[in-house]
Amino acid sequence: MIPLIIATKNKGKVKEFKELLSEYPFKVISLLDVPGCPEIIEDGTTFKENAVKKAETVRDYTKKMVLADDSGLEVDFLGGEPGIYSARFAGDNASDEENNRKLLGLLKGVPEEKRGAQFTCVIAISCPEKGTKVVEGICRGTIISASLGDMGFGYDPLFLVPGYGKTFSQLEPDIKNKISHRGKAMEKAAELLKGLV
Ligand code: IMP
Repeated sequence: MIPLIIATKNKGKVKEFKELLSEYPFKVISLLDVPGCPEIIEDGTTFKENAVKKAETVRDYTKKMVLADDSGLEVDFLGGEPGIYSARFAGDNASDEENNRKLLGLLKGVPEEKRGAQFTCVIAISCPEKGTKVVEGICRGTIISASLGDMGFGYDPLFLVPGYGKTFSQLEPDIKNKISHRGKAMEKAAELLKGLV
């Protein structure tokens, strides 16, 4: 098995990446199991800048192959917010509930046809001596006006997926993983990984 470091401590993401990579010959290790890794300040202005920074910082520290993602929710009515600020929309260290409450407050009274949104995920893969490559996945949906479902994480209970009539929180993980921004980016990332090993 080839070690692959996933540059995140977000348990929801770690779980999804482990599922998404289960068919590949990688020993998936998250930052929860890499003591002493320097804190990474996500100060880029795009998902890509942040993903590359995370991947290269952890690659330099571990000297191993690293996969990093930066992802978030972009709401049409809010001009693409919260975007790169999705994790800290309601403030530094905000909980998922606090972020969701803030989003619902900003969309109060906005009609369904104007509640379009998309999740974007950019994945950067960085290998010692082989440089860094980047791929992107997008999943469109709408933001409903009250949480539905109890699976997943983040904005999942508010994100309704067209064609399924369910939120990400109501979809079984294997279905979410197939259609999600992260799943789509991972499909492309898998092609890169195959070329690297
Ligand atoms: P990151 O760790 O900087 O990439 O922050 C991503 C943030 O975007 C998360 O903390 C969530 O708030 C949100 N997010 C990204 N992907 C998802 C998802 O699949 N479901 C729900 N929220 C997500």
